[in-house]
Amino acid sequence: MSEKILEELKEVKEKILSIPNTELISCVPAIVQIKITLTKYKQLVVCMQFSDNYPYDCLLVELKSKLLSDNLLQKMTKICEEELRKFEGEKQIIHLVKFVKNFIIDNPLCVCSDEILSLKNLLTDGDEIKLKQKVSKIILKLREGSYMINSSFTIPNDYPVSRINVTISDCNLPEVLRVNCESQCQELARRAVEPPLKRKSSDPPFEPTPSLLKISEFIINNVIRKYPTMLCPCCHKSALPADAMDVVKDHQADQFVERVYCGHLFHHKCIDDYMKTPPFTGGKKCPSCGSRIFHDKWRATPELAEARWAHKQARQRELDEVVDFLG
Ligand SMILES: [Zn+2]
Ligand SMILES: [Zn+2]
Repeated sequence: MSEKILEELKEVKEKILSIPNTELISCVPAIVQIKITLTKYKQLVVCMQFSDNYPYDCLLVELKSKLLSDNLLQKMTKICEEELRKFEGEKQIIHLVKFVKNFIIDNPLCVCSDEILSLKNLLTDGDEIKLKQKVSKIILKLREGSYMINSSFTIPNDYPVSRINVTISDCNLPEVLRVNCESQCQELARRAVEPPLKRKSSDPPFEPTPSLLKISEFIINNVIRKYPTMLCPCCHKSALPADAMDVVKDHQADQFVERVYCGHLFHHKCIDDYMKTPPFTGGKKCPSCGSRIFHDKWRATPELAEARWAHKQARQRELDEVVDFLG
């Protein structure tokens, strides 16, 4: 074993103590292992072995982590190898450990690298994803026909322990759908980090779970890919206009889009007629899915709706009689 290696090992043992977030696991000529812990989930072990011709050849590097993805570790290993080439002929261990640690600090989105990879697979032409590593943000721009929804996700340093921050920055779907989408996203983000209120003592202890993919899947599958092609259950025509520019904003207009509790979309006029037509027993049910319809604009109880309908029918009969008499 060369003098140089023994000298470097001695130096590593001393110097590592002054590098925060690192811990020496082994430091012998056969292998050097140093653990880096930045948060509970940003944790890895840098394993280094001396090549035959060290330090004129690079260290042999392997990165191990139970929490960071294999894919990320492979990519990082390649980057480490490139970095080490700049230091051929010199001591490499301390330099490499600092490099790996700074890499994780500078690329905070590495904690969700697998989620980002899966998310990219869900995107189609016209969609766009931007990673802003410096500010730990992901910008997602989704398109479907003339409709679009842009969202931004801020990943906290101790993700997934702390809650992800989601905002819908820009969206040309009807306001009611944008608002609903945003509150559903907040709910998914909250549920990922807070234990449910109703828990049995036999339930396993609550663990926070990653929510980036879950939330973006929701926006993709349940919002932008779904609404633009959804049919009104009454008239079986598209609930939204083909061109987003034609979205109706007047709440009382016939073509204004109403979202009911089950998630189906109706034209205002269609649901208004439907809610005022029998049968009323047990409440009106969504013609698409059979769920009871709940909506702030139509809150009459079945009895009241029945009474109103009977009144309207009686009124119509009176008018018919008048017409008859005059005819
Ligand atoms: Zn309709
Ligand atoms: Zn429904």
